[in-house]
Amino acid sequence: MANTNVKQFMAKVIKRNPNEPEFHQAVLEVAESVMPFLEKNKKYVDAKILERIVEPERVIMFRVPWQNDRGKVQINRGFRIEMNSALGPYKGGLRFHPTVYLGILKFLAFEQVFKNSLTTLPMGGGKGGSDFDPKGKSDNEVMKFCQSFMTELSRHIGPNTDIPAGDIGVGGREIGFMFGQYKRLRNEFTGVLTGKALNWGGSLIRPEATGYGCTYLVEAMLNYRKDSLKGKACTVSGSGNVAQYTVEKVNQLGGKVVTLSDSSGTVHDPKGIDEKKLAFVMELKNVKRGRIKEYAAKYNCKYIEGQRPWNIPCDVAFPSAVQNEISGEDAEALVKNGCIAVGEGANMPTTPEGVKVFQNAKICFAPGKAANAGGVATSGLEMSQNSQRLAWTRKEVDEKLHGIMLAIHDTCVRYGKEGKGKYIDYVKGANIGGFVKVADAMLDQGLV
Ligand code: NDP
Repeated sequence: MANTNVKQFMAKVIKRNPNEPEFHQAVLEVAESVMPFLEKNKKYVDAKILERIVEPERVIMFRVPWQNDRGKVQINRGFRIEMNSALGPYKGGLRFHPTVYLGILKFLAFEQVFKNSLTTLPMGGGKGGSDFDPKGKSDNEVMKFCQSFMTELSRHIGPNTDIPAGDIGVGGREIGFMFGQYKRLRNEFTGVLTGKALNWGGSLIRPEATGYGCTYLVEAMLNYRKDSLKGKACTVSGSGNVAQYTVEKVNQLGGKVVTLSDSSGTVHDPKGIDEKKLAFVMELKNVKRGRIKEYAAKYNCKYIEGQRPWNIPCDVAFPSAVQNEISGEDAEALVKNGCIAVGEGANMPTTPEGVKVFQNAKICFAPGKAANAGGVATSGLEMSQNSQRLAWTRKEVDEKLHGIMLAIHDTCVRYGKEGKGKYIDYVKGANIGGFVKVADAMLDQGLV
């Protein structure tokens, strides 16, 4: 019964949103979890909540003209998807990457609605970005682009309306340039963006939050099975913000990270990426903007060109780069090599085939909307501090983040228990747990 409903529902979604496979994939995953729950909760069916949730409240697309260092005119496309504001102002990152198009941002905005709901903080869901590629651009070119991008975006956002943050290709540098332009246009110093630098309104722990939070959630899943990260070999993909702070927290909890990667290849360091080596990675990636290959040369370890880390044996995997980076085959290799837990630092890094492999093997699998919610949760804490014009200590923010991740784990356990055993389907738990809160708010607010 539920299955037929999912098929019919998806046929309509695909027809209304053609050529957006990532969006279809994200919606399908939620529909598969939520439809059986809806069968028993007709009030949501009658109000067509699921049909409304897949329709963005607003989609903004705009031209971003700018001039490169040689004086040549460049044109990019900018987007902001304001997906759902039932729980609070729209909140979600901006992605600058050449692969960005409407379908990617709709998938990310859709995921964000459920993720933000899971954090328990008052935030709706949104996402935005551009097909601009910051790679290989000078600081001056990045600034010119950011200023032009914000000139249009500023009309649509505000501290009580829509508060963007970073994502792939948008770090502290880009947030700074965009904040400066917003302030200049509005003559207002407000918390309109999160991920700001500490000395002008940022929050301690925000840079660390996604990686730390993902690691806390994996530790909670392992603790639930009377296990922990201590002594575990971990593979991490990516080498950006999420990957770096995942390495830091895994080390603090007694695990050992043996891989990092970027879009060119993977480094395998069986001795483990300790604090000193991580400092090298941070300098390489955040300051020099170099390639991960240079780590292998520096520390005399293996570099595997054009490959992801999933064939390297590990106990725990942390995909922290990009969507669909773990295929069904990769998932099989991970399980076969003894992987017992996966924490998705990235958004939707596992394909539907891969997710089925993890579910069938009954390993601990935390989907992105639960596992990487620590980033936006701490953005929410940054907003609270901005509103109060206060700055909390590192310890205070970290404790709040840890508490939120444990609460997300509890929600997943509550809605994700399968049968009489102890197995928790965290995908189901996160999808239903995230859905209920948004759905109830939508019911309360009438037909909007
Ligand atoms: P960064 O831009 O800091 O790093 C992205 C990393 O992923 C880089 O190492 C990059 O390598 C790699 N990468 C990008 N595209 C590909 C590709 N096609 N194949 C392999 N590797 C690739 O981004 P973040 O660390 O912020 O984001 C990583 C993931 O985490 C994304 O999915 C993002 O949506 C998600 N996320 C981030 C949050 C945050 O707070 N930052 C919050 C929640 C989720 P290269 O340098 O070669 O491009």
